[in-house]
Parts: sequence; structure tokens; C-alpha cells
Amino acid sequence: MAILKVCRLGHPVLRKVAEPLPRDEIASAACQKFIDDMIATMKEYDGVGLAADQVYESKQIAVIEVAANPRYPDKPQVPLTTLINPKVTPLTDEMEEDWEGCLSIPDLRGRVPRFQSVQVEALDRSGNALNFVASGFHARVIQHDWDHLNGRVYLDRMRDFSTLSFLAEFTRYWLQH
Ligand SMILES: [Zn+2]
Repeated sequence: MAILKVCRLGHPVLRKVAEPLPRDEIASAACQKFIDDMIATMKEYDGVGLAADQVYESKQIAVIEVAANPRYPDKPQVPLTTLINPKVTPLTDEMEEDWEGCLSIPDLRGRVPRFQSVQVEALDRSGNALNFVASGFHARVIQHDWDHLNGRVYLDRMRDFSTLSFLAEFTRYWLQH
């Protein structure tokens, strides 16, 4: 496994709509190794999700996992999941606002409104169909990474930038609120 380089905001690949992955390519050794590398990269940088375009591959693949994570303490755990060609549909008009960060936008946090509950349809890394409902932080992580696959970042979703903070200031001034 390899730790991949994560591209930062400003690289054009982050603003492209990623290409769908043909189902018969999922089982290939190259694709399976790429997914392993994405997972290793997400874990290395304590991310809770990583989209393929964040590692310079404009493909509809994202990995998510919320384990015990120092960047996001006190969050409910989400099992390791690979989402290929995901389709995300809001199940409610209700939005929740919470803090997000992004490995492609280092050292910043901001409050982002997200749908509280979403339906997720995707393929897993075996090519099997996934169809499940995610809510709360799980839904937030999925919406963040689904946005990446569609050329968007969390800054695009913020209502305004009044909460946008560097990590040190976030910890100092916002974390207790
Ligand atoms: Zn991100």
C-alpha cells in the first residue's frame, strides 16, 4: 500500500465532475490497489473520508470511515465503506449545521449546513449494490465526499464565512461552544 499525495484547493481536478467507474473495472488489480491506497491515505492523515479526485484521480470513488479519530473526537463511528458511483438523495428538508474540515483545505474549519438524512445508492468495492440511509454525522461525511466527486468543496456550502477559522483559533475560541 502507498500513501498518496493529497491535492489542495486550487488544483483544477477538485473542480471537475469525476467520471463514473465502469462496473467491470472495479475488480481489476489496479482499481483494488487504488482503493487500498485511498484507505491508507485517509487513515494516515486522520481523515473521515477521501474522494478520488483529492488524490488526482477524477473517478467516482470515495472511502469513508469514522473510527476513534483525533481530528473528530466525540463523533459517532462509521464503518469503513467504499462508495463507487454514489447517488445521494436528501430525505428531508431539514438541515443541520456543524463543523467541517477537509484534507484538501488544510488547517481550516467552518460550519456547514447539511441535510440531516440522506438515501445513498452506490456500488461497493466488490461491485455489489449498496442502498442505505445515513443520518447525522454519517450523512454529513457522505455529503462532503459526494460534493468532492461533483467538483464542490465545503466552502461552497457555507452560508457565510463568519465561522471560518484556522484550527488553532477553532480550538481556542469555538470548540467549547
Ligand atoms: Zn474534503
